[in-house]
Amino acid sequence: MSTELPDGAMSQRREVHVLIAGGGVAALETLLALRAQAAGAVGITLLAPDPAFLYRPLAVVEPFAPGSIEGLTLAEFAAEQQARLVADTLVRVDPDLRVATTRGGEDLLFDELVVAVGARERATLPGTTRFGDPREADAVAVILARVREGSVRRLAFVIPPGVGWTLPLYELALLFSAERDPDGRAPELLLVTAEDAPLAAFGPETAAVVSDVLATRGVVVRTASVVERVEADALWIELEGAVPIDAVIAQPTLRGPEIEGLPHDGDGFLPIDEHARVRDLEHVYAAGDAVVSPIKQGGLAAQQADAAAAQIAAELGADVEPRALDPVLRGLLLTGAAGSMPRFLRTHLGVRELGVDGVSSDPLWWPPAKIAALHLAPYLADRLVRRSD
Ligand SMILES: Cc1cc2nc3c(=O)[nH]c(=O)nc-3n(C[C@H](O)[C@H](O)[C@H](O)COP(=O)(O)OP(=O)(O)OC[C@H]3O[C@@H](n4cnc5c(N)ncnc54)[C@H](O)[C@@H]3O)c2cc1C
Repeated sequence: MSTELPDGAMSQRREVHVLIAGGGVAALETLLALRAQAAGAVGITLLAPDPAFLYRPLAVVEPFAPGSIEGLTLAEFAAEQQARLVADTLVRVDPDLRVATTRGGEDLLFDELVVAVGARERATLPGTTRFGDPREADAVAVILARVREGSVRRLAFVIPPGVGWTLPLYELALLFSAERDPDGRAPELLLVTAEDAPLAAFGPETAAVVSDVLATRGVVVRTASVVERVEADALWIELEGAVPIDAVIAQPTLRGPEIEGLPHDGDGFLPIDEHARVRDLEHVYAAGDAVVSPIKQGGLAAQQADAAAAQIAAELGADVEPRALDPVLRGLLLTGAAGSMPRFLRTHLGVRELGVDGVSSDPLWWPPAKIAALHLAPYLADRLVRRSD
């Protein structure tokens, strides 16, 4: 639904120019939210280096069903949303002059800037196969082939300290649990995590349900454990010692984008306030994996994007009441082979509210997408197309 600005507000203002840097969940959600709340009052530029938006949650399925990754061409999206697309990378911002400079040397003027450029993967433990990006699905597919031929019998999944969104590795372990070698044997699966309980961020009730699912599928879990190093045939767990293993898949930790001219914490992430405004700056917002937040996740990215868009629209006079961020974490856990029930997980990350926390085989939000986003999820529901690139 589009909320047009009141006539008075429209006539008193020139079109405000919003620059959105990024082409992922946070950027697309910001754009759609602005279109819904301040249509006609904003001119939007999308600044993104990659030609397509990729739906990352499907990277988990890709090794098992090649061609699963879906996406959207940014040029088509921008044209449909009447936004200008600049295919370049944001490298520097002058918040006082309101100028954003691209790697290609272009200076883009803005009235409001939303930085939604995502995070960067750090290197993982040597000797492990990294999994955190659709482009890394091929390496997991190689391990899958070895499990199927029987040359990998013991497979470990490692979630190091500092990883907030751990669900993809649990899904991967559950998907591997359905595999068999030529003699019909299941692989031995071990998941080592720094969390106190499986998917601890969702709270104890969910952790108990997920523990049961993992146990039923034969996935052994070591919680509150840190892997020190990986050798050819062993995994070394702190305070425990060596565990024999044939292959290891590890989630990378993330670091922030460190955009010149903008504040950042020691890891390069942008600090934001409860309206997604970059701290101590006016007219500059940030959302998504690029911001300081213990959990980097698409649904949370969308909530930050909505907060930024609502604040911008309200300042333009739109009939929107910006609400302080009060994040709800939603996760859809695939539990294995076709026919097995997925689980919808939800928790309030702020003060726990009655009726918000839950774990269920029935959808706890709609559309029941893996990335729960007010505007983007319904938008993508019928527009994602399979991509081979
Ligand atoms: C395997 C996997 C599974 C996941 N599963 C889920 C899930 O089930 N549910 C969920 O909610 N989340 C999930 N996530 C997390 C989710 O994908 C991310 O949290 C989300 O994509 C973050 O969105 P973002 O827009 O901040 O960053 P990104 O999606 O990383 O997008 C960043 C964008 O910015 C562009 N960019 C980069 N640098 C610049 C620059 N300097 N200037 C301009 N543009 C730039 C990039 O090209 C990209 O378009 C998963 C992640 C992975 C890796």
